[in-house]
Amino acid sequence: MTLEGRVALVTGASRGIGRAAAKALAAEGAHVIAVARTVGGLEELDDEIQKAGGSATLVPLDLKDFPAIDRLGAAIFERWGRLDALLANAGVLGVLGPLGHIEPKTFQEALDVNVTANYRLIRSLDPLLRRSDAGRAVFVSSGAAIKHTAFWGVYGATKAAMESLAFTYAAECASTNVKVNVFSPGPTRTAMRAKAMPGEEPETLKTAEDVAPALVNLLSPSFVENGARIEFSQMAGS
Ligand code: NDP
Repeated sequence: MTLEGRVALVTGASRGIGRAAAKALAAEGAHVIAVARTVGGLEELDDEIQKAGGSATLVPLDLKDFPAIDRLGAAIFERWGRLDALLANAGVLGVLGPLGHIEPKTFQEALDVNVTANYRLIRSLDPLLRRSDAGRAVFVSSGAAIKHTAFWGVYGATKAAMESLAFTYAAECASTNVKVNVFSPGPTRTAMRAKAMPGEEPETLKTAEDVAPALVNLLSPSFVENGARIEFSQMAGS
C-alpha cells in the first residue's frame, strides 16, 4: 500500500469522483478525512472503507461555511499535526444558460463553492501540508475553465478562477515539499454530468472509479511535478 500512514482530505466525498477517490486513497492505506454536506453519502463511504479494512473521519460540512474550514484546519492540527494530501474536488455546476439570464444567487453560490472555499482551504491547510514530508494538493477543474463555451459561463469562470488560485499556490510552494497540481477528469458518469447533459447515455461515459487511480497517483509522494494542468486522458492507465 503506497499511502500507508498518510492523512488525506477529500472534499466532495459523498458521491461521484470524490467518493471514488476517497475509497481508492483508503484502499492504499491513507486515513481519509471525508468532507461533504450529505451525511448519508459520507456514512455509506465510511462503511465501504471500513469493510475494505481502511479508515476514515467524516466531516459533514457546507464548504460555504468558511469559518468551519478554519476550524477543520485547527482540528486536523490537533489530531495529526499535519496533512499529507488535499483533494479539492467539491464543485457545483450552477446553472447552464446565457450569462444575462443567470440569477445573482446562482453565480454567488458557484463562486463560494468553486472558488472562495478553495482559497479558504488553502489558507487553512497550507501550514499543515507544509508540515508533511511530501504534501500533495490536487484541485479538480474542468475543460470548461479554458473553453469559454456558450451557456457554461458560471461554471467555466469559477473553474478558471480556481485554476488561477491553484497555479499561484503551486508557485508559492515551488521551494517546499508541497506539490500542487490541477486535474481535469473529462466527462465522467456522475450526478453533475447528468445534470449538465441530461440527454446523454450515461453508459457511454467512464466511471468515477475509472478516474480514481489517477488521483491516487497525483496525491502520492512519488508524484513530484508541481504547477501542472493534467488531463485524465494523459494519465489513463495510472
Ligand atoms: P457530483 O455532483 O457528483 O459531486 C459533487 C460533490 O461536491 C458532492 O460530494 C457534493 O457533496 C460536494 N459539494 C457540492 N457543494 C458542496 C458544498 N457546498 N459543501 C460541501 N460539499 C459540496 O460531481 P462530480 O463528482 O461529477 O464532480 C467532482 C468534481 O469534478 C467537481 O469539481 C466537478 O466540477 C469536476 N468535474 C466533473 C466532471 C464530470 O464529467 N463529472 C467533468 C469535469 C470536472 P454534498 O452535496 O453532499 O455536499
